[in-house]
Amino acid sequence: MTSIQFLKGVGPKKAELFGRLGIESLDDLLFYFPRGWEDRRLPARREPLPCLDPAPIIKGKIKSVRDLYTSSQLRIFKTVVETPYGEAEASFFKRHNPRFDVFAPLRKDLKEGRVVWITGTPEDPLFVSRLRADEYYADDDARALKMHVGRIVPVYPLTEGLTARFMREAVYEAVQAGHEAVWDFLPPALAPRRGLVARDLAARAIHFPENNFELAAARRRFIYEELLLMTLAWALKKRQTKSVQKGFVYEVKKTLLTPFRANLGFQFTASQAHAINEIFTDMQAPTPMARLLEGDVGSGKTVVALSAMLLAAENGGQSVFAAPTEILAEQHYLTFERFLKGLGLRFALLTGRMKAAEKKKILADLADGKIDILLGTHAVISDGVKFKNLRLVVIDEQHRFGVRQRAALRAKGDRADMLIMTATPIPRTLFLALYGDLDLSVLKELPPGRKPIKTTEADEVTAFAAAKEEVAKGRQAYIVYPVIEETAEADMKSVKAEFERLKVLFRGKKVDMMHGRMPGELKKQVMDDFAAGRTDILVATQVIEVGIDVPNATLMVINNAERYGLASLHQLRGRVGRGKWDSRCLLVAHARAGDAAERLRAMVQSSNGFELSEKDIYIRGAGEILGLRQHGDMEFKIADMSRDGEILAQTMEDREAILAADPDLAAPENRGLRKKLRDLYAARWNLIDLS
Ligand code: ADP
Ligand code: MG
Repeated sequence: MTSIQFLKGVGPKKAELFGRLGIESLDDLLFYFPRGWEDRRLPARREPLPCLDPAPIIKGKIKSVRDLYTSSQLRIFKTVVETPYGEAEASFFKRHNPRFDVFAPLRKDLKEGRVVWITGTPEDPLFVSRLRADEYYADDDARALKMHVGRIVPVYPLTEGLTARFMREAVYEAVQAGHEAVWDFLPPALAPRRGLVARDLAARAIHFPENNFELAAARRRFIYEELLLMTLAWALKKRQTKSVQKGFVYEVKKTLLTPFRANLGFQFTASQAHAINEIFTDMQAPTPMARLLEGDVGSGKTVVALSAMLLAAENGGQSVFAAPTEILAEQHYLTFERFLKGLGLRFALLTGRMKAAEKKKILADLADGKIDILLGTHAVISDGVKFKNLRLVVIDEQHRFGVRQRAALRAKGDRADMLIMTATPIPRTLFLALYGDLDLSVLKELPPGRKPIKTTEADEVTAFAAAKEEVAKGRQAYIVYPVIEETAEADMKSVKAEFERLKVLFRGKKVDMMHGRMPGELKKQVMDDFAAGRTDILVATQVIEVGIDVPNATLMVINNAERYGLASLHQLRGRVGRGKWDSRCLLVAHARAGDAAERLRAMVQSSNGFELSEKDIYIRGAGEILGLRQHGDMEFKIADMSRDGEILAQTMEDREAILAADPDLAAPENRGLRKKLRDLYAARWNLIDLS
């Protein structure tokens, strides 16, 4: 591997900056894919069927330049350029510096009569001939014409200290050096069958395409590669999981399950019964369970998980239940207390903020096998947590946990069963592609008697009036804000500031506040007060998003609703509608930039999490929703699940054919795939065993 420092202009300092982007070698740079492209060709050279929007660019002869001061210490260097389409203006802005002339280089380079290229952004979308200038190049600069202007240019994710221009130049060098590009690891039969361009050509064209066709072909090639590797990895993973023998047998004794059902005070829904059945079948099977339980907010996943943990306990096994937040873990603890009463089970709560002595005791008991069920936050994953006989791992709201965290937790047991749960359902192809190693159970219906939640957009005045109404009826309300403290963004309201205001506005009522930066003790106190009905209105951040279950709360007001993704909005809304009263969700939006209007409309129209999730994937892209991006796990470099479904389907077909003929990827033509898989999915992400 040739170090990045091999490049001209890259010393240790710059190398460190590249390192921040995960680039250490020339090959890393070669495969550092652009996040977009700009069409900086002049109109006459653009293709009839462009796939990129033309970027603002001016080419012409400089007619005049002017150096202006503004009152605010800002200096402007204004150029007028003659182009074949008429005169254009480009202005450079710089902060005034009394010690030197900030425009000296410009004055030298942009002399009247010279032919130049200037890029930038239009000051006003209606006047594209007036640019706020960014980069400029002389027309006789042959190098610039190869990489910066007059062509399609790449746009990269950057970090402070690395400019777009420097990055382009560095990548250009890497493309010239082009080592690994020529190593085509795909089995030779695939490229012709799928119409994939040669890898070395793609490696150049992904950065510096000569035209749209080249660009499209290069992207297709790398998207295909990425998806094929991923889908192969999951298939191998599944096979590896299924090839292990658990070495112990479960028996459904019902010594705990029967009294548990009596404690519930309700019947399982048909879906719950079905899911429990599937889970029990898995647990009784000779190979470990790896199952995903999908169910909308409020569909009753917790008692399904509890049933599984009880089966483990009946057979002398320990279970762990991981929840994404402290509040949620504490809520679950209360649920466990209620439903496990009289069963003689020992369960404990472990969170990060617990006192050392308390923690020590729990850890000791756990290692001794004196605890049957451990419930907790991410703290349960930490190294010090050791079990005597961990048989079942349950992960709640799995998108908050990374693939690696899942694996780390499961590794605390010996061939333990795993059940992961989510309220964010995933379309079927995506499920197969991304969670190829999991079996699926779905809770299709909500428990009976749930009232639909009426969702509307509202202004603040209406929302507060609604809160007054509910409180007058003896109900409770949540009012949610996007941030804890005020920020520079004027239209974003904060919990702290609004709490002060709402206390006055709702004088005589009990208003309380909760946010993530409060000490855990206090959070618990606030939550207990609200759950017990001692508080009327809870002003909070998104910390209350998951799992909070207070049936008497009937109103959810979401401020700055435009700031939230659909999944969060739906989760927040799911905090109400849990009792016998009609409930409402009011969305107070302050702006509608981007896809906000679409999201709000979807919320008003649908109360079905499955529908919303499908929409969300199309609005936002899959990575974010599935928590892939969030955890840096298995991030896609170039594929986008919301767009590349067709290529994904092809790779899944090819995967089947490849593995059917050569399950261990041992054949000579598959050796390249095997090496790539080992580098990525075994060495880096530790997902599979490949030696
Ligand atoms: P989620 O799937 O969102 O995690 P929970 O497990 O928190 O949902 O369940 C939501 C509420 O519904 C809880 O109060 C739970 O006790 C209750 N519940 C679960 N199953 C049933 C059922 N079959 N009938 C009535 N209530 C139920
Ligand atoms: Mg839940």
